[in-house]
Amino acid sequence: TEACLTEIEAADALGAFVHKTPEIALEQARAADARIKAGEAAAMTGIPLGIKDLFCTRGVPSQAASRILEGFRPEYESTVTQNLFDAGAIMLGKLNMDEFAMGSSNETSVYGNAVNPWRRGNEDTALTPGGSSGGSASAVSADLCLAATGTDTGGSIRQPAAFTGITGLKPTYGRVSRWGIVAFASSLDQAGPMTKDVRDAAIMLTAMAGHDPKDSTSRDLAVPDFEAALTGDIKGKVIGIPKEYRLDGMPAEIEKLWEDGKAMLADAGAKVIDITLPHTKYALPAYYVIAPAEASSNLARYDGVRYGRRAKLAAGDGITEMYEKTRAEGFGAEVQRRVMVGTYVLSAGFYDAYYNRARKVRALIKRDFEEAFDQGVDAILTPATPSAAFGLGEMADADPVQMYLNDVFTVTVNLAGLPGISVPAGLDAKGLPLGLQLIGKPWEEGDLLNTAYALE
Ligand code: GLN
Repeated sequence: TEACLTEIEAADALGAFVHKTPEIALEQARAADARIKAGEAAAMTGIPLGIKDLFCTRGVPSQAASRILEGFRPEYESTVTQNLFDAGAIMLGKLNMDEFAMGSSNETSVYGNAVNPWRRGNEDTALTPGGSSGGSASAVSADLCLAATGTDTGGSIRQPAAFTGITGLKPTYGRVSRWGIVAFASSLDQAGPMTKDVRDAAIMLTAMAGHDPKDSTSRDLAVPDFEAALTGDIKGKVIGIPKEYRLDGMPAEIEKLWEDGKAMLADAGAKVIDITLPHTKYALPAYYVIAPAEASSNLARYDGVRYGRRAKLAAGDGITEMYEKTRAEGFGAEVQRRVMVGTYVLSAGFYDAYYNRARKVRALIKRDFEEAFDQGVDAILTPATPSAAFGLGEMADADPVQMYLNDVFTVTVNLAGLPGISVPAGLDAKGLPLGLQLIGKPWEEGDLLNTAYALE
């Protein structure tokens, strides 16, 4: 813990930690020492973690990287962080992210962006660590902590993991409690581990997961010891390669990465087959209707009364002006865009044309996966991202849809509620990390982790 705290101070320029909690960390570390001496250590005892700013941590600023939550210190602890602390883990501080987890580059954060510790060849260009869990990815990649929590609504664990050469797992929807995590799109959000390797992901998921009566969507299912699933044996497993994920103009190095991944799994004894997920091309538009719709509803609670910051009012301002001014200055541009899109697609005249249609598409996407699994597929292999990490600011003038295209391989998994993992799978020509994604059957994270283990 002390070594991590020293590293964090030295790496301020990465912008990964937005709030440091050394006193809490050292106190937890002393408790962990005592626990270890007493012979009562659990798997996470004494492991120093970074916590994404989306998680409510008792008494500690929890701002979802938004101005509107300035000054908010929750009086409660999220179930995930509580589970981790109960297992003996240590909190070093809160990690940077895109505002309300909306983004793919960590550039929508009120704190400014986190930076990727990797460089493109000899260039000085600062690169994005990805988003929205950009601070988590940057911190784990730069060894500022041993692991971090992330959340993934459309790819926010897996894309930053791929961009920074670490492992990121989005569990099955309902595996991990969402209680105490600032809600973005409640039917898609899921927290998961961001770690240095698959074994750490298995250990951390075991500690994070579990039924929680405080989250009605958390499933009442025993949590297996996911580490025990890592046998390394994947003989006879069937790996599906979905042809719809082969995009026009996909860089040759992403193609090659995918081919290498197929070869590795085949060498380990898996059977690699071509499959079809025919509704894939509708996933991104469906996601960018459903996620903003849910976000517009979830973000209605930030009204200047209940949480965080309230705008300064002028004489004569009433409650409407208070709401308007608070929300206008409290939310950044991307968050405002999502609220506008979301309220539009939910409005009386457009509900059927957009929101209902997107829900139908979502059902078809889910069915595509079910059909593949019914035909005997155990896991699906795809690239995690369509490119390596891009330069910070590079997308600043681009159409927002350009940024949304980053999520093309990851959003399907959230729409279908499936577990997905990104594992580091090599470097591009400029020496930047690339990731492969494996998608598993619902509730079969152990199997998924074991297959990912064969890719390491
Ligand atoms: N990049 C996606 C978005 O902006 C996904 C974000 C996430 O998974 N939280 O919505």
